[in-house]
Amino acid sequence: MSFHNLELNSALLRVVKRAGYTEPTPIQTRTIPHILNGRDIVGCAQTGTGKTAAFALPIVQLLGEDRGKRCIRVLVLAPTRELAAQIDEEFGKFSRNSPLRHVAIYGGVSQQPQVAALKRGVDILVATPGRLLDLMNQKFVRLNQIDYFVLDEADRMLDMGFINDVKRIIKGLPKVRQTMLFSATMPQTVQELSNSILNDPVKVEANPQSTTVDKIAQSLYFVERGEKRALLKYILRDNASEKVLVFTRTKHRANNLAKQLNRARIPAEAIHGNKTQGARTRALSRFKSGHTSVLVATDIAARGLDIDAVTHVINFDLPNLPESYVHRIGRTARAGASGFACSFCDIDERKYLNGIEELIRQPIPVVAEHPYMSAIEAPKRSAPASKPPERNRRRRARRSRERHQTRTA
Ligand code: AMP
Repeated sequence: MSFHNLELNSALLRVVKRAGYTEPTPIQTRTIPHILNGRDIVGCAQTGTGKTAAFALPIVQLLGEDRGKRCIRVLVLAPTRELAAQIDEEFGKFSRNSPLRHVAIYGGVSQQPQVAALKRGVDILVATPGRLLDLMNQKFVRLNQIDYFVLDEADRMLDMGFINDVKRIIKGLPKVRQTMLFSATMPQTVQELSNSILNDPVKVEANPQSTTVDKIAQSLYFVERGEKRALLKYILRDNASEKVLVFTRTKHRANNLAKQLNRARIPAEAIHGNKTQGARTRALSRFKSGHTSVLVATDIAARGLDIDAVTHVINFDLPNLPESYVHRIGRTARAGASGFACSFCDIDERKYLNGIEELIRQPIPVVAEHPYMSAIEAPKRSAPASKPPERNRRRRARRSRERHQTRTA
């Protein structure tokens, strides 16, 4: 399949070529023609599947075909500032040689530049719900001319408690419009929301929630809670772990872990909702450029982050929602690369592990030999997943056996 088969105009075909996209991703193949035909879409797709271009390319084309007086005609709602900024960047890329104007508005930064951009006039508005409502209440934004509405990462939007904000925003949109809803997972609440806002939608799916990306080598480490840090350092000693995204359950744990890694001379930064937007953007760009090799994140902060070449995703804490596991590990093995997903599991997390394995319909291979193997959790299943770093492997394995014997004695 080529982009030429998707009814994109020649200007967009050039844009796509310049972006280096040689062929459309499955979600793009399945979505773009329907959006160009005016259909509503409900898409089950994670970030990393190319879903932003799947809606942004046809929207840019449709806007170009039907130009009137400048007003906000496209609204994209995203749950996090980072995702909003990324989507806005993609729109910028695709509309570079057109008169279309776009802006991202989100909280955590001054509203002045955003208001100034709105006053100059925009066609495409990408926003997080809180700041958008704020600016709507101050009468800086009017959404009565919206033709295209995209609700991105709908499941996370609801998890983060934005449901009422989203509903209030939708109330302000014209009834006649084209709506596209994307979500990594489709729990009941998202289905209900899509039933209420979409009109006879085409259902498209890429990487359905129960299948994890084939190219990711998953592995499971049973470990006691107090030894997770040592285990992490052990894994980070592996030369292959160049760009590592570590997930913790809380902001507090993310901060502490980043500090401790730095003390161990492993350049790390934390990214979570309590950091200012500036700090988050700086941490992200230092990680992207390779200045820091480890980014410690909470689920919410990492949602939708587009970071290339993440070699390892490490679940320092297992997520309590099984869908988050699929989403987290999808941060690696993007755009055709392969990657590793290592998950730490202590005794209190066994319940989460069961839910995850049920969802992905397979057991995660256990690393049967590592120095911090939990004595209580000594695995009944033992499919060796990946080898520990060669250096000192024998010595560590011996230490592991000794520890195990001491504990079980
Ligand atoms: P997304 O799922 O929208 O977050 O996209 C993930 C990454 O894939 C982004 O860096 C896009 O620029 C990139 N991408 C999108 N479509 C394609 C394509 N057809 N070929 C190669 N890369 C793509």
